[in-house]
Formats: sequence, C-alpha cells, structure tokens
Amino acid sequence: MKILDKFYEGKAKQLYRTEDPNLVVMHYKDDTTAYNGIKKAQIANKGIINNKISTIIYKRLMALGIPTHYVDTLNERDQLCKRVTIFPLEVVVRNIIAGSMSRRLDIPEGTKPINTIYELCYKNDSLGDPLINDHHAVAVGAATYDELKVIYELTDRINNALKNIFLEVGVLLVDFKIEFGKTSDGEIVLADEISPDTARLWDVNTNRKLDKDRFRRDLGDVIDAYLDIYNRLQTLK
Ligand code: UDP
Repeated sequence: MKILDKFYEGKAKQLYRTEDPNLVVMHYKDDTTAYNGIKKAQIANKGIINNKISTIIYKRLMALGIPTHYVDTLNERDQLCKRVTIFPLEVVVRNIIAGSMSRRLDIPEGTKPINTIYELCYKNDSLGDPLINDHHAVAVGAATYDELKVIYELTDRINNALKNIFLEVGVLLVDFKIEFGKTSDGEIVLADEISPDTARLWDVNTNRKLDKDRFRRDLGDVIDAYLDIYNRLQTLK
C-alpha cells in the first residue's frame, strides 16, 4: 500500500492518504497535550505504545462484532484505517467520577455513581470542545437523532466490552472518550484511538493511575504507566 500525502495533523496523530481513496494511514506521534493544548510535551515512544494498545483493543472489539475503522497495523506507528467522515463529537463515558465531572459538580474523584454517565462534547477547538447535549448536537448539525441512537447503542456495547477487557488485567475503566465516523457506504463505526491518552485507567488494587493523568498532573512515570497497560493487555487470552 503506497502512502501518499499528509492531509490532516492533530495533536497526537497524523493522517495520510493512500492509493485507495477509501483507506488512510493513521500515524501515532509522541506529542502529548493537555488542557486544550496549553500543556505540551514529547514523550519518547508514547506513539508506539499507544498504537500497540489501541491495536489490541480494536481487535478485541471487532471480535465482539463492533464496527470500527480499523483495517491493519502496518508498523510501530502506523495503522491502516477506513476513511471516514468523523462526527464532530467526543463521546465520553464515565463509570467512576473523575476529572472534569468531579471538578464541575464538586464530587470527590473515585465516587461510583448509581448510573453510567454519557456526555457529548462538540469538537471545536476555538470553542474549547464544549459540553453539549443531544439536542445541541442535532441543532449544530453534528449528528441526527437517528445517528445519535446508533452512536449510543455502540457506545454502550463498547463500554461493557472495555470494562471486561480491562478488569481481566486488573484495571478499572474509570472513564474514556471515543469518536465515531461514517464510511463511504454510510456505516457508523468507531474511529480514532483507545489508549491511556483517551481513557482513565486505575489499578484495581491500588488505584494507581495508569493513564494521561500522570502527565496532566505531573505525577511522573508516564511512559512506565502506558507500558504497564500494554504489558497487561498482552497477557489477555
Ligand atoms: N478525554 C480525551 N480527549 C479530550 C477530553 C477528554 O480523550 O479532549 C478523555 C480523558 O482522557 C478522560 C475522559 O475523556 O478519560 C474524560 O475526560 P474529562 O472530561 O474528565 O476531562 P479532563 O479531566 O481531562 O478535563
């Protein structure tokens, strides 16, 4: 597969065209950002580890019948993916309260709510990705109600699958962010990465944070935590 020009560069990844108009290459960088890009750093090999972690997770999800953009992992940093039009939405799922919800509603981090919490953020850098509801999403043209229904059904299946995958390796899935896209045939699929950059992952016994909060909060040992997640996922049967 011949890799052509770069057509998009985000905070942690680049996208390249290929000879096939329906396929793109997603390249994982070592760049890391937090607080809407205010805090920035390079973490050596982070892109390689996230590519490996996301590959394991996507393969598991696809084995459970969840539609995704994933096609193949080409090398340490590159994945071949279906070209999709991304919904300008971040779908956040919270099993345990942490981060912005803890701050916004003054609930101690680590509190287990009686329900699962689903949030939408509108992907818009100049607005700072604001929290919106379903009706706002429809009003700004980010998705239709029918598309949101599919997105929520998939999100629920993904949450259940991910909780189980991580629990098998002694990790609590606190919260995560996912994105969805539409393929050229109109199928809604999971897209982007799932990694310690996009999920809060705590050791079930010690509650040690094994995710990007180590970078956000200057806790140190960022790459060791990501490697720990990768090593644990490799033990999955
Ligand atoms: N998240 C993400 N990208 C974003 C915002 C959030 O991947 O642009 C993930 C984040 O890593 C966490 C979950 O979504 O696992 C919920 O994040 P939260 O709203 O608590 O944001 P934060 O505390 O980072 O402000």
